[in-house]
Amino acid sequence: MNVLLLGSGGREHALAWKLAQSPRLDSLYAIPGNPGIARYATCHDVTLTDHAAVIEFCTRHSIGFVVIGPEAPLVDGLSDALRAAGLPVFGPSQAAAQLEGSKGFTKDLCARENIPTAGYVRVSDLETARLALARDFGRPVVIKADGLAAGKGVTVAMTEDEAQAAIAAIFEKPGGEAVIEEFLDGEEASLFVLTDGVSIMNFGSAQDHKRVGDGDTGPNTGGMGAYSPAPVLTPELEAEAIDSIIRPTVAAMAKDGIPYSGVLYAGLMLTRTGPKLIEYNARFGDPECQVLMLRLEDDLLELMLAAETGDLASRPAPRFGAETALTVVMAAAGYPGTPQTGGAIGGIGSAEETGAQVFQAGTRMHGEQLVAAGGRVLTVTATGATVTHAQAAAYRAVDRIDFPTGFCRRDIGWREVAREGK
Ligand code: ATP
Repeated sequence: MNVLLLGSGGREHALAWKLAQSPRLDSLYAIPGNPGIARYATCHDVTLTDHAAVIEFCTRHSIGFVVIGPEAPLVDGLSDALRAAGLPVFGPSQAAAQLEGSKGFTKDLCARENIPTAGYVRVSDLETARLALARDFGRPVVIKADGLAAGKGVTVAMTEDEAQAAIAAIFEKPGGEAVIEEFLDGEEASLFVLTDGVSIMNFGSAQDHKRVGDGDTGPNTGGMGAYSPAPVLTPELEAEAIDSIIRPTVAAMAKDGIPYSGVLYAGLMLTRTGPKLIEYNARFGDPECQVLMLRLEDDLLELMLAAETGDLASRPAPRFGAETALTVVMAAAGYPGTPQTGGAIGGIGSAEETGAQVFQAGTRMHGEQLVAAGGRVLTVTATGATVTHAQAAAYRAVDRIDFPTGFCRRDIGWREVAREGK
C-alpha cells in the first residue's frame, strides 16, 4: 500500500520511521516532509490548504491511505475532503477535530456528559468577562482564547492584574471568544488512545516539559522533551481517566453524529480528587509521539488502518516495550523567540550509534550540509530501564550531536528522576 504522511516535524519523522517498518507498506510519500523523513519517504511540496491539489497528488501516486500528523489540516477539513474523494485517512473529521480546535465545544461537551474538568464560563465580550472574573472565580484563574493558538492563547493568571490583562488582550479585536476556567492544582500527564469512533485502545501515557529552561522556567514552547510511560499516571488512574473522561467523550461524539476516529490525546491534571481533563488534542503530541513510537512494538500502519475502518475492537491491545523512552529537543538559539536558522548540524550518525534515534524537525539541506531551519530542530530519543537510565542514554546521544547554534534542556524527566532517586 502506498501511504502519504502529512507534516514536517519530529512527530512526523517518528511516524515515518515507524510506518517504514510495516510489511504492508509499499511506498511512503510525505508532504512536505523534511530531510529526516526523506530517509523513508519521497518528499513533495503541495499546499495542504489546497485540498484539490492534495487529492490530485494522491491519485497520481496511487495513495491508499493518508496519515495526517498536525492539527491544522484536520481543523481545516482536509480529512473530510480526502474521504469524500474515497481516500481513507488517519485523523478525525473537521467536526470531530473541534475537540481540539474549539475549547468552548469541548467544555460544553464535558458539562453535558459530566466529564471531570475545570469549572468554566464561555464569554464573548469584555463586560461579561469582567463580571464573571469578579463573581465566579478565585485566583489563580485560567483564561483561554478560543480557537487554535499553539499554546499561546492560555494565561494562568496568578494576580488580578494578569487576569484583567489577559481578557483585555482577547477582546482587543472584535469577535474575541474566551473560556474562563477554575485553576486546577496537580501534576499534568498526557494519555493517548486510538479510536475508530466506537472502540477505544489505550495507546500509552507521557509527560512533557513545556518551558524552555531547566527547572521548568522561562517562556512556554511547543515542548522541550518528554518521556513515556508517565509513572505518575498509574494503571488505576489511567483506567479512571479512560472510564470517566475518554469513554464518555467518544460515546457522546458518536451519539451527536460526529464520531471521532484517529488518535485522541487527553491533557490531564491529576488532582487530589482524580484526573480532570485540561484539553484534548486531535493528533499525537510532538515530542510525545517520538517516545510512543520508540516503545511501540506493533505495526503502526495496521493500527492506524483499523482506526479508520472500524476494526479496532477485533484487534488485541497494542504492545509497548517495558522500557521507558525519553526524548530531548534540541532547538536553535533564540527559540521560542526568533530562532537562529542556518546553523550547521553534525554528529547524527554518531548519536545513533549509541542506540538512540534522532528525529528531525526544523532542518533542511544546504548543499551537502544539514542546517537548522526552524525553532525545534532535533529530538534525540533513547530508551532505558528507568527514566533515570533513559535520560542518561538520551543525553549520551545529545552529547555526540555537533550543533553549535543549538541548545537543549539538561533536565528532561527531572521529576521522575528525583522520585526514582528516593
Ligand atoms: P497546547 O498548545 O499546549 O496544547 P492549549 O492552547 O491547547 O495548549 P491548554 O492545554 O488548555 O491550552 O492549556 C495550556 C497549559 O495551561 C496546560 O498545559 C496547563 O499547564 C495550563 N492550564 C490550562 N488549563 C488549566 C487549568 N484549568 N488549571 C491549571 N492549569 C491549566
